[in-house]
Amino acid sequence: MEIISKRVLTMSESETLAMTAKARELKAQGKDVISLSIGEPDFNTPEVIKEAAKKAIDDNFTHYPPVPGYADTREAISRKFKRDNNLDYAPEQIVVSTGGKQALYQVVQVLVNPGDEVIIPTPFWVSYKEFVHLAEGVVVPLKTTIENKFKMTPEQLEAAITPKTKLIIFSSPSNPTGMLYSKEELRGLAQVIARHENVYVVCDEIYEHINYVGRHESIAQFPEIFDRVVTVNGLAKGFAMTGWRVGYIGAPLAIAKACNKLQGQVTSATCSIALKACVCAMEMDPATSQDIINMRETFRRRRDMVYQLLTEIPGVKVAMPEGAFYFFPDVSSYYGKSFNGKKIENSTDMAFYLLNEANVATVMGSAFGDDTCIRLSYATSEDLLREALRRIKEALANLK
Ligand code: GLU
Repeated sequence: MEIISKRVLTMSESETLAMTAKARELKAQGKDVISLSIGEPDFNTPEVIKEAAKKAIDDNFTHYPPVPGYADTREAISRKFKRDNNLDYAPEQIVVSTGGKQALYQVVQVLVNPGDEVIIPTPFWVSYKEFVHLAEGVVVPLKTTIENKFKMTPEQLEAAITPKTKLIIFSSPSNPTGMLYSKEELRGLAQVIARHENVYVVCDEIYEHINYVGRHESIAQFPEIFDRVVTVNGLAKGFAMTGWRVGYIGAPLAIAKACNKLQGQVTSATCSIALKACVCAMEMDPATSQDIINMRETFRRRRDMVYQLLTEIPGVKVAMPEGAFYFFPDVSSYYGKSFNGKKIENSTDMAFYLLNEANVATVMGSAFGDDTCIRLSYATSEDLLREALRRIKEALANLK
């Protein structure tokens, strides 16, 4: 008899984390690997947030916090939703979790019954589909293409909805494509959702502050669907706080309560010190915070540089990202070509070819539901990015 449950045996490993672990392993063996695999800002957490955490320790915030987070943390998040997104989430509608990942996992667990259909526009972030599998839901991929800037249209969404549809999950700005929906585009989607009163929406807005084209727009802003939208966000990307593990939701009260109940059985709460640091992060206004602005502008410079370098590689199709810190170029014109007798058939072969022959770690597009592409994270220095792109260009030229 198998020791491990079918549930976990049939689940796929997080490929973003797996590729990052491989890059680390090769580096430990002395290989000069440049990692463009994990999506993690290379900045340090802003000083003011670190000071708030130190104070929390000195003030003995070291006991179990309330399951959904301290009252002042949830009040600060509630004010942030109003200030940045014009959304009215009362503190009771907010649950703080151990990273955006746990927040998303819980929402799927509390909404999806076995057999329920969950529409996920592809390319999607790796973990969405596994959350759905773990809830025994059915993933309904909605294919988007580089030509349409990887965005779903209202017509596509309408066509994908069936009487079994329970949920739609997407991210904007998007991981892995870097695209984001404008207010008008969201309005079109909201009009479709409004017509289907049993359909819920989870929008993952963790890249909100890394937006190069303007104001961040939330799909929850449309009153006709507000009661069916869960807005997910967190501190990892916008505040360079990946290790602190703070994610949160703003949700209809019943959903927030159910997440609270589930969280009470799995983690009790996230870390008390991180919850206090979160109050400080939420008080940083993205319109004026130099920490946030500096990070975004640095990412913008890198984006412009990498875009230029990618467009100089023959046969690579690339769309200019509008947010987040990823490129998702189409490299499929190289499929069928070989190096040293080894043929590149798909995005997994490509990612391993680049890792082994060019010493550059990327993530295969198949992990995100699109095998024509690979994902590059540009959350690293300009020098390393320039060198990584040089190596990729050379490695691709060696494929015959
Ligand atoms: N969200 C980041 C990424 O996509 C972190 C890794 C992960 O949790 O998947 O690379």
